[in-house]
Amino acid sequence: MANTGTLLVISGPSGVGKSTVVARLRERIPFHFSVSATTRRPRSGERNGVDYYFVGEDEFEELVEGGRLLEWAEYSGRRYGTPRGPVITRLEAGEHVLLDIENLGAMQVKRSYPEATTIFLAPPSRDELERRLRSRGDTDEVDIQTRLEVAGWQEEMARGEFDYVVVNDELDRVVDEIVRIIRSPSH
Ligand code: 5GP
Repeated sequence: MANTGTLLVISGPSGVGKSTVVARLRERIPFHFSVSATTRRPRSGERNGVDYYFVGEDEFEELVEGGRLLEWAEYSGRRYGTPRGPVITRLEAGEHVLLDIENLGAMQVKRSYPEATTIFLAPPSRDELERRLRSRGDTDEVDIQTRLEVAGWQEEMARGEFDYVVVNDELDRVVDEIVRIIRSPSH
């Protein structure tokens, strides 16, 4: 497709610091940030339609059945999906679109939209990831353990399947690296 914007998909384990990186990246490059639908409950401070569309199981099922999601996946017992319409509209208008989604969804996007650039943000180490997850203080112990387990296989998979793996060691460096990737002609 000519004249379309870049579709950038950023994945990485829960707690790796994706939101911070994404926020900084958007200060450097104007992106339309795709708001996902999810069946999980809002955390404190999260707003419907801004952070996520918080929907019930039935409503999510309708989105799936109606083909209205570009991809969807289950994560930690909840479902998450990217509304298709806004992504396509923005890309066709020449805007850059950014998805912050987990691995399996990222791979679905890459299959249906091979021009997408996929970046996996990896933690410097498992211990550091555990420390970051705990310091958030909004995730219970069972959920922390699940998220750590998932993080292990996600990273293994990412090394074979993502276009780029970037270690989130230092914010400025990481944001610079991603900006370089996006601006490189061959990405
Ligand atoms: P959280 O519950 O911490 O907000 O998100 C959990 C995981 O779901 C994160 O890895 C996040 O990137 C992922 N996620 C958020 N929205 C979507 C989506 O629309 N599709 C997929 N596949 N994953 C998503």
